[in-house]
Amino acid sequence: MVSHSDSWRRSKLRPALSLLKPYVAGKGFGEISRKYGIAPETIVKLGSNENPYGPCPKVMQALAGISPERYPEPEELIAGIAAYTGFPEEMIIIGAGMDGVMDTMTRLFLEKGDRTFIPTPTFSYYEILTITAGATPILEPRGQHFEVAGEIPADIKMAFLCSPNNPTGNVTSEEEVCALLESTEAIVFLDEAYVEFADKSLIRLVEQYDNLIVGRTLSKAFGLAGMRLGYAVAPRWIADQYRRAAPPFYGISCATVAAGTAALSDLPFMQGSVEKIKSERERLQKMTGSHPSQANFLYLETERDSRKYVERFLARGIIIRDCRSFWGAGEHHARVTVGTPSENDRFLSAFQEIC
Ligand code: PMP
Repeated sequence: MVSHSDSWRRSKLRPALSLLKPYVAGKGFGEISRKYGIAPETIVKLGSNENPYGPCPKVMQALAGISPERYPEPEELIAGIAAYTGFPEEMIIIGAGMDGVMDTMTRLFLEKGDRTFIPTPTFSYYEILTITAGATPILEPRGQHFEVAGEIPADIKMAFLCSPNNPTGNVTSEEEVCALLESTEAIVFLDEAYVEFADKSLIRLVEQYDNLIVGRTLSKAFGLAGMRLGYAVAPRWIADQYRRAAPPFYGISCATVAAGTAALSDLPFMQGSVEKIKSERERLQKMTGSHPSQANFLYLETERDSRKYVERFLARGIIIRDCRSFWGAGEHHARVTVGTPSENDRFLSAFQEIC
């Protein structure tokens, strides 16, 4: 093998990469099982905001009938999303998770020298996308109640608003979002990954603002995190360009298409699991005294250092998320996903011991 020096390798890589802090995902069953010697089936995973009820039964039937030798045909899936959101198909775009949607979206707008507006703490992929595009993230701390504190500055190309916000769980109101939209020429990406757990969606605002995109996912309420399916409702001028820049077949598989189409055909199943999660969320919130949340997770203040706090849960086979990797969250926050009643009981009994 021809081997080059480190400085030669660095000279090939794009300089912006040196600024990247890699995405930190919630811990998995395998890692915790190996580290603490705990059987995977006894581990309670409340660190990644997944839906413990999974998708509706039709999804497994649909997956059994796929033709993996064929490329995916996403038309029926897009029609299903159009029916679910009430927007025409031309305004619907899809991708490999909302992460995939945002990846293609930032390729439409961001280049070297651009600036993005990111109210923190929030989902860290916005910052990674900005940096890999060669642009600069402007990280604006949220206010005392995690509200978006500042206005969007004048020279911003793209703003990322997450509502309900990960990891804090609060929403940005319609008035606040409209005021931000009216104050800016930036492209605003409103991330509604958790909106099915919230009181209200602002998706209809896409009809009024031609600089607003609303991103959604089937990973959370629909229980399809492993299938990697996200979508967005975007003004036609953006959706048209997205389809030109997106990877072939939008980067999704025929399994994703089958699972997504089936999941969207059974809304009562999704609504039923959302209701169960919301009622458990209220119970957990009261018992832990966490911040209120409109998502499927709670944001906890930890008296001691969050790393040590989370470690004590992990050692008991309960995976929760240390929030230190969220820019602006500090060293005293943890996030716990709302699980099934029995998973939440396991979490609460550990909480009582630890706190
Ligand atoms: N936005 C937010 C706020 C998220 O928390 C997540 C997932 N953790 C995503 C987007 C990405 O979701 P997906 O699984 O659809 O890529």
